Amino acid sequence: MTTPPACPRCLGALRPPDLWNDQWRCEEHGEVAPYRVATSSREQALLFLARAATAPVWVPWPMPVHWFGSGVAWAGDERTGPRATAFAAGGPSPLGGPAELILVAEEPGTGLGARLAGLSGTDPQRIGGKPEEKIEAAGHPTALWPVLCPPDRAVFVGEAYGVWLWVALWPSDAATLLLEHLVLWDLRSTEMLATCLLFGADSTHL
Ligand SMILES: [Zn+2]
Repeated sequence: MTTPPACPRCLGALRPPDLWNDQWRCEEHGEVAPYRVATSSREQALLFLARAATAPVWVPWPMPVHWFGSGVAWAGDERTGPRATAFAAGGPSPLGGPAELILVAEEPGTGLGARLAGLSGTDPQRIGGKPEEKIEAAGHPTALWPVLCPPDRAVFVGEAYGVWLWVALWPSDAATLLLEHLVLWDLRSTEMLATCLLFGADSTHL
């Protein structure tokens, strides 16, 4: 079960493809990849993504201590399959209080990561200079650049497998999680990991 198809950029309702147009359309953003959030069987949704997604399906493993999965989402229509994936997890912030982490892999132009980052466009405006963080993704050290975003969160972006890798954290000081050597795995090559992840309360940000 999933939420109805929505715009990955604004979560608005979409007009389905019809005789005259073969794309899902948002009133405001035009043709978009329909976005869905799994509302039940999130483990099954992860297995579906591991087999069908054209973008990586990033999950942190091992999970930070006392952290649980909190959501699975993707964007893409029936023809293309999922070309953007999102995995959310929640748990205690290293600095106290609850925290949430969302990992997104998406083709440029999708706009899911940009919405989580509070950006108006579909992609980071400008990255360059010195990366602020490094994360291990599928065994490769991957540079992450900070994204200018609202003060309630911290967002970083990098590139892996030719698509964006977004890392969004709430609240902003949960960014210290990245210093704890977070290791990401792509479920497309380690499908079994999907059955090891435990899920807790639903994400509030997906
Ligand atoms: Zn929209």
